[in-house]
Amino acid sequence: MNYYNLKDKQEVVNFKTASIKGQGKEKGLFFPENIPLFEKDFIENLNHFSDEEIAFHCMRDFVSDEIPEEELRKIISETISFEIPLKKINDKISVLELFHGPTLAFKDIGARFMSRCLSYFLKNENKKITVLVATSGDTGGAVAHGFYKADGIEVVILYPENRVSAVQEKQLTALGENITALEINGSFDDCQNLVKQAFSDDEINSALFLTSANSINIARWLPQQIYYLLALKQWQKTEENHPVICVPSGNFGNICAGILAYFRGLPVEHFIAACNANDIFPDYLKTQVLKPKKTAATLSNAMDVGNPSNFVRILELFHHQFNDLKNKISGYSVNDEETLKTIAKVYDQYDYILEPHGAVAYAALERYLGKNPDRKGFILETAHPVKFPEAVESAIHVKITIPDSLEDLMNQEKKTVKINPDFKELKRFLLNKNKNL
Ligand SMILES: *Cc1c(COP(=O)(O)O)cnc(C)c1O
Repeated sequence: MNYYNLKDKQEVVNFKTASIKGQGKEKGLFFPENIPLFEKDFIENLNHFSDEEIAFHCMRDFVSDEIPEEELRKIISETISFEIPLKKINDKISVLELFHGPTLAFKDIGARFMSRCLSYFLKNENKKITVLVATSGDTGGAVAHGFYKADGIEVVILYPENRVSAVQEKQLTALGENITALEINGSFDDCQNLVKQAFSDDEINSALFLTSANSINIARWLPQQIYYLLALKQWQKTEENHPVICVPSGNFGNICAGILAYFRGLPVEHFIAACNANDIFPDYLKTQVLKPKKTAATLSNAMDVGNPSNFVRILELFHHQFNDLKNKISGYSVNDEETLKTIAKVYDQYDYILEPHGAVAYAALERYLGKNPDRKGFILETAHPVKFPEAVESAIHVKITIPDSLEDLMNQEKKTVKINPDFKELKRFLLNKNKNL
C-alpha cells in the first residue's frame, strides 16, 4: 500500500516510510492510496473468526508485504493481548471498554502496533531512532509502555510538572531503560513548543534521527480500526440493527479510524463525535467552516484540542462532500457540569463508573437517542476511571480503587530529569544523550 501526503499529493511513500517519518512535507498527513474493502462474507460473519484473525485481516492490506505474514501476526497478537469487552449498560446503550491495556487507555493499541512496526523496520538497519513526544498525560504513558525495551529506539517524553495525575506520572516515569521522562517546569504548551523546536533544529536533526509518535502517524491511526471490528463481532451476537457509535474526540484520530472501517464495509448506522467545551467540530457541522479555536481546559483534558489534526482525513474519506459527511456524523458538545452529572447518574442508575471522556460520549449518545428513539448504540470508553480520580470521586463520592495491575507500578520509584522550559536545556540534553549511546 502506498500513502500520499494530503498537502502535496505528489509525495507518495510506502507503509515503512510513512510510519518512520510520521508526517510528510509541510507537516501533511499521509493517507492510503486506496480503501481496501472487506468481503461481505467476512464482515457479516465476524463471529466465525478469532480476534487475531479479524485484526490481521483488517491490517494486512495496509502493510502489504512490507512486513512478512508471520511477523505481522505476531505484532497483531501483541497489540491486542488484552480483552476489549462490549458491555451493556441498559437496553439502548453499551460501552466498549478500551482501557484494559497496560496504561489503561485506548492509546495503548495504536502505540503498541506502531512501536513493534518501527522495531521491525529498524532491526536490520544500523541506526537508532529517538522518539520525542510531549504529553498532557495519556499519550506519554501509552508511548512509554508501547516502546519499552524496543530494539533500536530511545524514547524521550516531555511532561508538565505537577499537571498529570499520579497514575499517569508513574506510567511515564517508572520504566527507565530506553524511556527518559523530562519533567518540565512549565505547561503542556511549553512541552509541545520545545518538541516542535527540536524537530526544526538542524544541529539536533543531524546528530539524532528524530521521529514523533503522535496520533497522526499511520501506524498509530490505522490499527484503531481493529476494535471497531471486534465491537461489531460482539454487537452482532445480540443485536439485529446496525449500531450508532459515539466516540469521545479530541484530535479525531479514533473516530476517523472507525469511519475508515465504515467506508471499507463495516455496518454502522451513524457516528457521533462527542466533544467537550472545545466544540470546533459541532460548530463545523452547523456552519460548514472549520474554525480552529484556542483550547479551553476541561475535565476531559485529553480532548482539549482546538484544531483537530485528523479532520483533513475525514474530509478526504467523504471526498469533501459536506452533505454526505453531515448525514453520517453528528457532533455534540458536553460541558464539565453535564459530564459530572452523567458520571453520577450512570453510577446511581446502573452501578457503572464512567470517567470524564466516556461520560462526555455517554451524554452525547443519550442526546442523539432522545431524537432517534428507535436506535441503539455504544460509546467508546477510552480510559479507566482511576486515571482521572479527582473528577470521578467528586461526582460519585466514592473512593475508586487502584486495580491490582497498578499496585506494583505505584510502588516503583519515579525517575525523571528536570529541565526548564528553555530550548537550550532540551538541546543540551538531547545532544549529550546521543554522545553517551
Ligand atoms: C487521546 C484521548 C482521547 C481523544 O482521542 P482522539 O483520537 O485524539 O480523538 C479521548 N479520550 C482519552 C482518554 C484520550 O486519551
